[in-house]
Amino acid sequence: MSKMIVANWKMNMTSAQANEFFDEYAKHIKKTKNKVVICAPFTTMPTVFKRRRLGFKLGAQNVHPAENGTHTGEISAKMLVDAKVTSVIIGHSERRAQFGECNSFINAKIKAAVAAGLQVIFCIGETADEREMGKTFEVLKKQFIEGMADIGAEAKKNIVIAYEPVWAISGGDPNKPSPTPKSAEIAEVHAFIRKLGKKQLKSSRIPILYGGSANDKNFKEIFVIENVDGALVGGASLVPSKFAAMCNFNK
Ligand code: PEP
Repeated sequence: MSKMIVANWKMNMTSAQANEFFDEYAKHIKKTKNKVVICAPFTTMPTVFKRRRLGFKLGAQNVHPAENGTHTGEISAKMLVDAKVTSVIIGHSERRAQFGECNSFINAKIKAAVAAGLQVIFCIGETADEREMGKTFEVLKKQFIEGMADIGAEAKKNIVIAYEPVWAISGGDPNKPSPTPKSAEIAEVHAFIRKLGKKQLKSSRIPILYGGSANDKNFKEIFVIENVDGALVGGASLVPSKFAAMCNFNK
């Protein structure tokens, strides 16, 4: 089965660095039936779009719910479409924690993005404390239900869920790796999200990605777990050979 592999470059990559990345990526990437999306910083988007013949779509890491207006520094869904973006990450834990984004704001963003025809990569995930307190499923259910509130049936078809346990996301320092969940833990949560999708969205097969320290060493193990339809990749997506190895997955 083909997988979806999404790069989250976060606040990394100037245009020159992106070009260097693609020159190297081109040496490693094979023709694949997997769907690859690169979510780039806004300033790097034109460069990334120019290299799309390497077999990926352009994604964004943020969108504002309003159509336009007095929102200094923000970008609307229409502007993303104008920049040739086809997917956007919404609900990432870094935006929740660093920018105070709550479920209702995330819901407004999702509505605006799907209304503009964008595919939404909707992130949900529990913190280490929430997991320790046994609240994982409660937290995920709340994020899921509130984030997806009042989203029409048609729009739901354009939504991909990314399960990202916050405690597993790498902090950017390769010398201090974050723990990765055991396969059984990923399987348990993905099965739970699959059930939520069926119940809340009446969708039997909403794609569910795993995110959190996924890399070229562990992806083969992760990709064979039931209900894992691909990965959202941070740190490893900045290294061309590592990211290409993941995109080349073939099973
Ligand atoms: C992320 O933050 O979306 C992510 C998956 O990061 P990393 O792979 O670096 O843990």
